[in-house]
Amino acid sequence: MIKFVDLKKQYESIKNEIDEAFASVISDSAFVGGQYVEKFASEFADYIGTEHCITCANGTDALEIALKAMGIGTGDEVLVPSHTWISTAEAVTNVGAKPVFVDTLSDSYTINPSEIQKKINSKTKAIIPVHLFGYPADMEAIIKIAKENKLKILEDAAQAHGAKIMGRIAGTFGDAAIFSFYPSKNLGAYGDAGCIVTNDDDIAYRSKLLANHGQVKKHEHLLEGRNSRLDGLQAAILSVKLKHLDKWIEARRSHARLYDKLFKDVQQVKTPEVKGSFTHVYHVYCIKAEVRNKLRIFLENKGIETAIHYPEMLPFLVAYKYMKHSPDEFPVSYNYQPMLLSLPMYPELTNDEIKFVCDSIVEFYS
Ligand SMILES: *Cc1c(COP(=O)(O)O)cnc(C)c1O
Repeated sequence: MIKFVDLKKQYESIKNEIDEAFASVISDSAFVGGQYVEKFASEFADYIGTEHCITCANGTDALEIALKAMGIGTGDEVLVPSHTWISTAEAVTNVGAKPVFVDTLSDSYTINPSEIQKKINSKTKAIIPVHLFGYPADMEAIIKIAKENKLKILEDAAQAHGAKIMGRIAGTFGDAAIFSFYPSKNLGAYGDAGCIVTNDDDIAYRSKLLANHGQVKKHEHLLEGRNSRLDGLQAAILSVKLKHLDKWIEARRSHARLYDKLFKDVQQVKTPEVKGSFTHVYHVYCIKAEVRNKLRIFLENKGIETAIHYPEMLPFLVAYKYMKHSPDEFPVSYNYQPMLLSLPMYPELTNDEIKFVCDSIVEFYS
């Protein structure tokens, strides 16, 4: 049995550190906010290289809080890729603005910069590029368009801790960026967690207020915010895991290189794009595969778990039916969707397991 993700193996490899951190938080009764949260926020800001890191309850909240902090709301339009997790668009709607979908690129699965221009009008206020699967969006082109049209950029880096373009880390290209620490993300807590990173003092200040009832200090509420706080246990776990992140990213990248190599002569499989200047962190190793659905069942019968990210492109979800989109508006993502297949990927995966996955796929096509 090869699992798609195995979080238990990772826990076992750092059990002592985690158990100790857990015990400290409990003996200090530092349950919400406090020293462990502050420590992790400062460590993560250092890791990304931003001035500020504002922790909150999860990545979806981080998107909403960051949008609000950037002043986006009713009447505004925000450009989001057609291919992403629903949070990216949901957050836009939840601040009162309208998500406007933009088709993606076939090789990278990220937002297509040349489609962005066509969707810009006087209501457009921001772009949310998503570094989907851990592969950075084309930030150079996106920044150029944003500058020309005076749009804000909020990077959705929920899947891309440590991803880079020419050595520059994802999360430092936009006005702000968000991360999710959902357990299965590349840096995952043992529950929900998220954050906003930015070099903009104003966005940082407003985000911090919004995430905690608009309080500057106890009972001094400057505005109405919400309760979106990180708890001490999650922060302590994240501090432990952050020290291992680069090593885990290296392991994912090495697994990906092995997958790539083993699929080299398999015509029916297209492996993920690898541009020399981009550092992919392989949150997801997604291939395009012929007769995907049959392949998936074949692999399941061999005990190999796979996933589909995602079974429906956002414009065609029931939730967005009211927008009345048609497939010809998003031809690229619509057409590749039936081929997407995510293969097992986590740092503790072994070479033998990867070989078994590839051998099984070769067997299916022969
Ligand atoms: C996981 C994820 C989010 C949301 O994060 P949560 O912590 O689950 O709320 C947002 N965007 C993308 C692309 C994600 O993968």
